[in-house]
Amino acid sequence: MRIIVSIKGVPKLETVKVDPETHTLRRESAELMLNPFDRSALEIAARLKEKYHAEVIAISMGPPNVIPLLREAYSICADRIILLSDRAFAGADTLATSRVLAQAIKKLAPFDLVLMGLKSADGETAQVPPETAALLGIPSITNVKDLFFEDKKIIALRETEYGLEELEAEPPIVASLYPKLDYFRPPSFKRLLEVKNRELEIWSAKDLELSIEKLGLSGSPTRVSGVFEKKFADKGEIWEGEPEELAKRLITLLKEKGFLKA
Ligand SMILES: Cc1cc2nc3c(=O)[nH]c(=O)nc-3n(C[C@H](O)[C@H](O)[C@H](O)COP(=O)(O)OP(=O)(O)OC[C@H]3O[C@@H](n4cnc5c(N)ncnc54)[C@H](O)[C@@H]3O)c2cc1C
Repeated sequence: MRIIVSIKGVPKLETVKVDPETHTLRRESAELMLNPFDRSALEIAARLKEKYHAEVIAISMGPPNVIPLLREAYSICADRIILLSDRAFAGADTLATSRVLAQAIKKLAPFDLVLMGLKSADGETAQVPPETAALLGIPSITNVKDLFFEDKKIIALRETEYGLEELEAEPPIVASLYPKLDYFRPPSFKRLLEVKNRELEIWSAKDLELSIEKLGLSGSPTRVSGVFEKKFADKGEIWEGEPEELAKRLITLLKEKGFLKA
């Protein structure tokens, strides 16, 4: 059994700076971390690996600063890690991203399962998993809490607004995960040291046999028509003074607003 986990590096919130002129994120100054949903996907992959003796391959599309995250994936459960990196991938929207991921996944066939996070913490579109499945021509199951194999079929438990749905599918499928896990195995220090001295597999646009016009900014139909900062109409007030005086002031205000009867 082969499981592919697709992981994304997202900026650590506390290191993100916003450009005051353009209001866009200054990504180059931000430190990266594993997208939290993808950390869960790795834990699920580790559990499936233990249960079914599966092979786990982790892939990520991004610049070389995602390499430590792929190494983290190796230290958790991956047997093989592959970075998908090329200048031609820069500026990709979800479709151009999915094209690269789908082509890499095709190259890794035969596979039984592709695990992704439900959504990323920065882009947050949740489009990449179903788009990748569509490009691969295989089923997509989103919002999966848990999944297992039974009689060569995949059983996925999917959370909906009405309750838990149980879906059955023939492998291979793409599942986007939203599990509520109470335990994450820690990365293995031994495996971290092992992977540090290994040469990393890096696949470029040429390796993936993808034509440049379908990639990056030129292959992205999404256009950002404007970026603006959210303004709060009511800024709030801070009152200072003695508690009794403040309480009287609050009662007067509540009466004025009609929340208390005069
Ligand atoms: C309107 C708009 C404009 C954008 N413009 C730009 C731009 O100009 N330049 C730019 O660099 N980015 C841009 N982005 C960001 C870029 O589109 C996303 O980083 C990328 O397409 C992934 O989409 P997402 O973050 O919404 O992923 P989601 O669909 O929310 O992610 C779900 C899952 O898909 C998988 N996944 C997503 N991305 C990757 C990845 N790179 N590698 C491996 N797995 C992955 C992960 O498992 C993840 O948990 C833009 C995004 C939007 C919405």
